[in-house]
Amino acid sequence: MKSHAKAVVIGGGVVGCSVLYHLAKAGWTDIMLIERSELTSGSSWHAAGGFHTLNGDPNVAKLQAYTVQLYREIEELSGQSCSLHLTGGVMMADTPERMDFLRLAHAKGRYLGMDTELITPSEAKAMFPLMDETNFVGAMWDPVEGHLDPSGTTHAYAKAARKLGAEIVLRNRVVELTQEVDGTWNVVTEQGAVKAEHVVNCGGLWAREIGRMVGVELPLLAMEHMYLLTEPMPEVEEFNKSTGREMIGVMDFKGEIYTRQERNGILLGTYEKACKPWSPVNTPWDFGHELLQPDIDRIAPSLEIGSKHFPGIEKAGIKQIINGPFTFALDGNPLVGPVQGLTNFWCACAVMAGFSQGGGVGLALSNWMVHGDPGFDVWGMDVARFGEWATLRYTNAKVRENYSRRFSIRFPNEELPAARPAQTTPLYDTMLANNAVMGDSWGLETPLWFAPKGTEPKDIVSFHRSNDFGPIGEEVRATREKVGVTEIANFAKYEVSGPGSEDFLNRLMTNRMPKTGRIVLTPMLNEFGRLIGDFTIAKAGEERFMIWSSSAAQKYHMRWFEKHLPKDAPGTSQVRIHRFDQTLVGLSIAGPKSRDLLQKLVDVDISTKAFRFMDFREMAVGGAPCMVNRITYTGDLGYEIWMAPAYQRLVYKAIKDAGEEFGLVDFGMRALLSMRLEKNFPTWFRELRPIYGPFEGAMDRFVKLEKNDFIGRESAAREQAEGPKLRRVSFIVDAADADVMGDEPIWAKVGGKDYGTVEKPHGYGAQRFDTDGKEVRGSRAAEGASAVRGIVDGDWRVVGWVTSGGYAHYVQESMAQGYVPAALAGDESAGLFEIEILGSRRPARINVEPPFDPSGEKMRA
Ligand SMILES: Cc1cc2nc3c(=O)[nH]c(=O)nc-3n(C[C@H](O)[C@H](O)[C@H](O)COP(=O)(O)OP(=O)(O)OC[C@H]3O[C@@H](n4cnc5c(N)ncnc54)[C@H](O)[C@@H]3O)c2cc1C
Repeated sequence: MKSHAKAVVIGGGVVGCSVLYHLAKAGWTDIMLIERSELTSGSSWHAAGGFHTLNGDPNVAKLQAYTVQLYREIEELSGQSCSLHLTGGVMMADTPERMDFLRLAHAKGRYLGMDTELITPSEAKAMFPLMDETNFVGAMWDPVEGHLDPSGTTHAYAKAARKLGAEIVLRNRVVELTQEVDGTWNVVTEQGAVKAEHVVNCGGLWAREIGRMVGVELPLLAMEHMYLLTEPMPEVEEFNKSTGREMIGVMDFKGEIYTRQERNGILLGTYEKACKPWSPVNTPWDFGHELLQPDIDRIAPSLEIGSKHFPGIEKAGIKQIINGPFTFALDGNPLVGPVQGLTNFWCACAVMAGFSQGGGVGLALSNWMVHGDPGFDVWGMDVARFGEWATLRYTNAKVRENYSRRFSIRFPNEELPAARPAQTTPLYDTMLANNAVMGDSWGLETPLWFAPKGTEPKDIVSFHRSNDFGPIGEEVRATREKVGVTEIANFAKYEVSGPGSEDFLNRLMTNRMPKTGRIVLTPMLNEFGRLIGDFTIAKAGEERFMIWSSSAAQKYHMRWFEKHLPKDAPGTSQVRIHRFDQTLVGLSIAGPKSRDLLQKLVDVDISTKAFRFMDFREMAVGGAPCMVNRITYTGDLGYEIWMAPAYQRLVYKAIKDAGEEFGLVDFGMRALLSMRLEKNFPTWFRELRPIYGPFEGAMDRFVKLEKNDFIGRESAAREQAEGPKLRRVSFIVDAADADVMGDEPIWAKVGGKDYGTVEKPHGYGAQRFDTDGKEVRGSRAAEGASAVRGIVDGDWRVVGWVTSGGYAHYVQESMAQGYVPAALAGDESAGLFEIEILGSRRPARINVEPPFDPSGEKMRA
């Protein structure tokens, strides 16, 4: 074993081997993988080997599509077969709601280049005759599904990596990780130490233990998972013989079952409600190739439904039940990327679908390590997406909830209950007493809307408008016509201070920094000129800036800030960054009466002249020391008031008391989001994401290319010079009783005209597949939309996608934001666009100017 390496990958499961392969392919050959035992000594060896492309997050779905396409490549390079069976598969809907869910998934697939198709239960039965189709109302067919040999696939990655120069060390456990002052890692193993520039945690079932070696508690948990294998079945053999085809994979949401052909029999697995964590606190190091004791009682309810839905399988004898553990993060997606607070310590763990996602994870991580950026939008798998609140016990509760709901519908207005309440502000009980319906905002309880007195504060979950529609309308109207107050503790807040603070922010941000007492809005770009942040920045003092942004991005942004901090001379501190989290909370008041209200609570002049739009001031509000921004996300006259938690109740009471005479109402996050829609304001992680450039995102006025050499300037300048290909726009949609939720396709009547790509950008080029799974390259792929079934319809074409939307209550319009080719972005003609909502195409019209207060005069009043 060598004693130095550029990177050490810990763990030889499918994920570690994929990371090793991708690093070697990217040109890093001085790398080694260290495995405790043999390859596949964690979950990888007893996996059911299924793969598919669908995922709730379109960006993760894209990575899954990449993974499937990769198998041919590693087979060719390694000479090792993955035993790929590309059978295709169906998802079966047993209710109209489930069918709505499939329609949504199918609609998303239109712009992702996925070739899914909605089919009848009888069509599904023709491909899987063991089902009783009368239990279902419809299905969705996905040709890019199948199964493979997990061990063969892991070895194929490993052999391909070795061929490219990587080293693999087996039967050697990593026992300790320490870091030297210069950042070098000491990877201490049973066979001696290795010095490495980078360490990658691919420890699978032991990823938590490896995290703990560097003082990090990773939010993941292993769950027991069972599948059974039947004896050979004559019906299966008969089907294969008569059709010349293998049976397809089937996912049955009602039964929480997945099933497919395995040799001459059937494999059937469950995601049972009565799920069970495995080794909830510590994973034993001596666990190896053994299986867990099957517990048929736990999966009995699923099997009962299965026998009704798939009577053909019930008759078969059970040959074997496999019960094995594998890991999940809170939301079921992987934990990938550099860990905030550490240098060159990377994660690729909690990969619950290693054979669908392993390739994409390897590609993303290797890009990140080699080029400094994952190369595409991996927020859905970023290890930074969970905060400190994701403790061991929190993780345990959330992973169990996620596992047991794996086949459940998540409605757009559904808040999940496990591990709540976690964090609360001092106003939590007050908000409950006000009949607030609370939501989870990055681990913090936040009022969503206020149910009328005497009614139960609870969402009726639905894909359609629901019981919050009326009350949110009331909150919006009262705020727009008088004044409203809402909690805004769920924003990210930072203070950047020190003599180098202004230079530091100038280097990171696209806009000029404000003068003392003023506020600016500014995007932040990566080196490739893509949007990685959107901030409100106030200059609070000579060397002190206050910054607000998206709560969920706190670790993501801290990681970036830390990476770009100036290297101080010893004993100096040029730039200090403080993340407040919940040590600073806030309230926002908005509406035409908000100034009159605030004036009653402060002892300074806040008239238009004295306290202008976009001013920042420290002042006492209701007797409490506060910071006040003259700006609100409602786009109305309004204020954000920030205070230490100890003062929040005092300020809220003062606002409520003084507000009575002005008709003050409480409003929640949903009313706030409705009001931002009618101002065409974007949201971070919806409209603004790392797949878009600042001009695509219509952030032009916040990008000052001439100001200095900020990060991403060169690429942004190129984007501006060449003109953005895409453009963010706002639509008014002729919706019925359901509004857009995000990710719906946008159609345009463009005839034969080509407005450029309809592919959502994701960073590694368009990948398309034939129905046999082969990638379509060259001219067919270049045909763009026409290569993919379903996205051209006569003169209509899918030209873009929705990022978010909903009902804009004050202007009484259904609104959507999304991206379309830039050439279409200024065209407000009626009849040009349609947006697909729950499978029905609704007329939509671009609205260049915001429908509420287009001149901004109310906001500036
Ligand atoms: C019953 C079952 C069915 C499944 N079915 C499917 C399926 O159909 N499709 C699918 O995609 N996925 C399936 N999975 C999940 C799949 O197995 C996992 O996604 C995948 O195996 C995760 O791979 P990994 O490399 O992250 O982890 P692991 O396979 O757990 O590998 C981690 C490796 O790290 C090594 N290691 C840990 N600590 C150290 C250390 N300190 N030093 C050195 N080495 C160390 C371990 O020995 C191990 O080999 C299933 C899992 C189970 C249990």
